[in-house]
Amino acid sequence: MLDTLKLEISNAIVYLKEQKMRFLNKGNISIVDRSNNLIVSEPGDPNVVPEPANILITDLSGNVIEGSGQPIQNFTTHLEIYRTFPNTGAIVHSHGMYTTAWAQSGRDIPVYGTSHFDYFKDAIPCTRAITASEAEDYGTAAGHCIVEIFEKKSLSPDATPAVLLFQHGAYVWGENAMEAANRCVALEQLAMLAYLTEKINPDIKDLQRNISPASL
Ligand SMILES: [Zn+2]
Repeated sequence: MLDTLKLEISNAIVYLKEQKMRFLNKGNISIVDRSNNLIVSEPGDPNVVPEPANILITDLSGNVIEGSGQPIQNFTTHLEIYRTFPNTGAIVHSHGMYTTAWAQSGRDIPVYGTSHFDYFKDAIPCTRAITASEAEDYGTAAGHCIVEIFEKKSLSPDATPAVLLFQHGAYVWGENAMEAANRCVALEQLAMLAYLTEKINPDIKDLQRNISPASL
C-alpha cells in the first residue's frame, strides 16, 4: 500500500508541475495513512527528484521511517490539518501566483461565481499574521492559525477544503493526492478569476446564495 501512496505523490507532483503550480519550485504534498499513523511525503530537499524511490515515509513525529533526508519543512502544518480535519487524506501546499497574491494581500477569496461554488462553498479564508513569538515554530503556528480561522468563521473543512496562509501561500486538501492537486489547480484559476472580476467591476458583490443549486 505504501508503494501505491508513493506513486500517488509522484504522479500528483508531475501534474502540479504541468499545471505550473510549482512556482519557484515552492510547495509540497503529503498523504496520511491513518490506519498506520504514517505520513507519506515528498523529500524535504527540493533538489531531490520526487520519484517514488525518493518519497519519504515518516511517523507522526516527523521521524523518517523509510527514505533519506529531512521531511518537508512545514511538516507540522500538515500534521495539524490532518489532526483537526479528520476527513483529510492528502494535502497540497502551493505558491501559485494568483493564490499567493491573495494570501500576501491578507484577503479572503470571495465567492464571485458558480465556478468557485462548484469547488468551495465559502470564501477561501485567509489566516491572521503569525506573531513574533509564534514564529519560532512557524510550521506549528501556521497549523494553529489555519485551524483557528476555520473555527472562528464556523467553516466546514469538507465544504471549503482550502485556506490561504497570510503572506505565504495556500493549503488545499482532499481525500487523496489527486483530489487535493485538482483542487489546488482549481483554486489558482478561481484566484485569478476573482482578481479579474474585481478589476472589471470593483463594486461586484458575492454570488447570490438564494439561487437554487440546480441553476448553479
Ligand atoms: Zn510555502
